[in-house]
Parts: sequence; C-alpha cells; structure tokens
Amino acid sequence: MSTAVASERPVNPVEPFLRTDRMPHIWCPGCGIGTTVNCFARALVESKQPLDKVAIVSGIGCTGRVAGYVKLDSFHTTHGRAIPFATGLKLANPGLSVVVYSGDGDLIAIGGNHFIHAARRNADIKVICVNNFIYGMTGGQVAPTTPVGATATTSPYGSYERPFNLPYLAESSGAVYVARWTAFHVRHIAHSMAEAFSKKGFCFIEIIAPCPTLYQRRNRLGDGLDTMKLYKQRSVIKNGASTRDLDVGLQGEIVVGKFVDIERPTLQQNMEQQLRQTLKDRFAGLGGA
Ligand code: SF4
Ligand code: MG
Repeated sequence: MSTAVASERPVNPVEPFLRTDRMPHIWCPGCGIGTTVNCFARALVESKQPLDKVAIVSGIGCTGRVAGYVKLDSFHTTHGRAIPFATGLKLANPGLSVVVYSGDGDLIAIGGNHFIHAARRNADIKVICVNNFIYGMTGGQVAPTTPVGATATTSPYGSYERPFNLPYLAESSGAVYVARWTAFHVRHIAHSMAEAFSKKGFCFIEIIAPCPTLYQRRNRLGDGLDTMKLYKQRSVIKNGASTRDLDVGLQGEIVVGKFVDIERPTLQQNMEQQLRQTLKDRFAGLGGA
C-alpha cells in the first residue's frame, strides 16, 4: 500500500489564496465573513488578476482580519482609515488593483467621512463592505447600519435611529459601481467582485452577512444556517433598482442586485489632466515670452 496516496488530501480551491500559517482564523462558527472571502478568491480567478498586482487594505474589526488571512500584499490599518490608506496606495502605484475589505462599523461609522469623499473624488479603489448591522469585534454595539427596532448591546429595547442605506449613500456620493448581495448569493458576489476588478473608479459592493454571535442571537434570528434560509426567503433581485428604495429593515424584503454601473473620470485621471494642462499653459507662456 502506498503511504503517499494515503497522505494525499483534497485541496480546497480557495486554499492557495490563504495564509494557512495564520489558521485557525478568529471568526465564529456561522459567521458570514468567511463566505465572502471564498467569493473573493473565486473573483480573483474569474477576473484573472495577477496576484502580485492586487493589494488589499482593511481597517479594524472582524472583517478587517481578512487582510491578514489572504495571500496578497495586505495592510491592516487603523480604525476607519482603510480608504485614505488605499487611496494613497493607488495614487503612488497606479498599476495596482487596490481593494478595501472591511465592515460596516469601520467603513461607514468611524470611516464614514473617508467613504463619502473617496466616492466623490472617484478614487480608483474597490470597496467591499461586509454589513452585519452591528459592531462585531467590539461587542455588538448599535451601528449606523442597525435596522430600526433591532436589539444591540447599546440598544436593549431596540434601535430608534434611522440607519444608512449603503447603496444610496455610495451612489449619491459618486460611486461608479454599486451592488448589494447577501452571503447567500455566493455566485453573484464573486461575479460582482470580478466586474469591479474590470472597472476604473470607486466601486462599492455591500454584502449583508450574519453575525450569529451578536446580532442574530440578540434578535432571535437563529444561527448562520437559519440566516441563509432567511436571506433566501427575504431577498429579491432587482438589478437597476433605484438606490433610494433599498432600505433594509429587521424584517421584510432585502433588495439585492447591481444598481449602478457608469463611467466618469477617476481622481488620478483628473489629476493627470490638470497636470498636463498646467504644463502646457506654462510652456506656452514661456514660448511667448
Ligand atoms: Fe463574525 Fe460576529 Fe463572530 Fe465577529 S463576532 S467573527 S462578525 S460572528
Ligand atoms: Mg459590522
């Protein structure tokens, strides 16, 4: 009997994209973040990305750990600051595909100002936001995405604050690509990520994903698997829907799809255009002197 055959084990197709020396990961059983990483690995394959030209930047939080687990050039930055870090990285090295991978608390609360201004400037970065409606790592506090009525550690009788509708925020701030899926829509997520790799400008993908430990449990939504069934029941694909109408409640429909896919000059292109024009004007001035 061959011992070589006995020791062989099937290789998970995602494994080559992971830093297996960093395993086991910190994510709880049933957490949706790992599912999104699987989709990300598939998107890298689908879009034929040269891996040495992809950089991933994340902030702080459970999703922020993604940067430490993928086998790419990665930067685990300070809380809320992934986007300015990524913007600088892209401007300094335009040949890179720069991905920001973080959670709703990091990107939309602490980093909310950076989010709207990077979209406004059309920074050429891809922003993946895993939205679990809560601050996960810090203990389940209410976030700017927590649905009205949902219970969190800081809203034991239910949140009374109006949450952000993230696709609407992204589009109205200037994003050129906006999509939303749930962790149930694995093929759609991978496809949207691959599409974002092919686009220039600020691309935003929201992935609604379960935090069974803090959000699902407190709101009696079951475990990770129960949540997948809920996502399947509650989600409706409406590609091209107006982002104004995409609020997500504790119950009811979750509209998913691709909502925005437009072109406009990026931050880098506008800078280069102005530089060219300025140099042209200066030299014209010198020539006429
Ligand atoms: Fe995932 Fe929530 Fe656990 Fe964080 S606390 S790893 S978001 S399940
Ligand atoms: Mg969160």
